[in-house]
Amino acid sequence: MSECPYCSTVVPESASVCRGCGAERVKGYVSQQTIKGLAGVGTILGIPTAFFIAYVTHSMPLMVIVLLTMILGPILYLKLKNKEKVSWIRPTAR
Ligand SMILES: [Zn+2]
Repeated sequence: MSECPYCSTVVPESASVCRGCGAERVKGYVSQQTIKGLAGVGTILGIPTAFFIAYVTHSMPLMVIVLLTMILGPILYLKLKNKEKVSWIRPTAR
């Protein structure tokens, strides 16, 4: 049993949605804001790095891989890191 952080309703472990307020319990949740922030930083840092890689290696596929890794890598890492972390999402926060 755990308690909903928003309305203090006791939620059974088998349930993933709070009956009191409809908040959802999820594992490995990463907020949209965090994803956008990481994608933004990844793009800013990734583009010059990717151009540098392309300049050095003359390899277009490698440049694309580097760019995608820099943009998506931190997001995937965070998702994996939070995999076992339980978060509550308020229905209004979506
Ligand atoms: Zn609730």
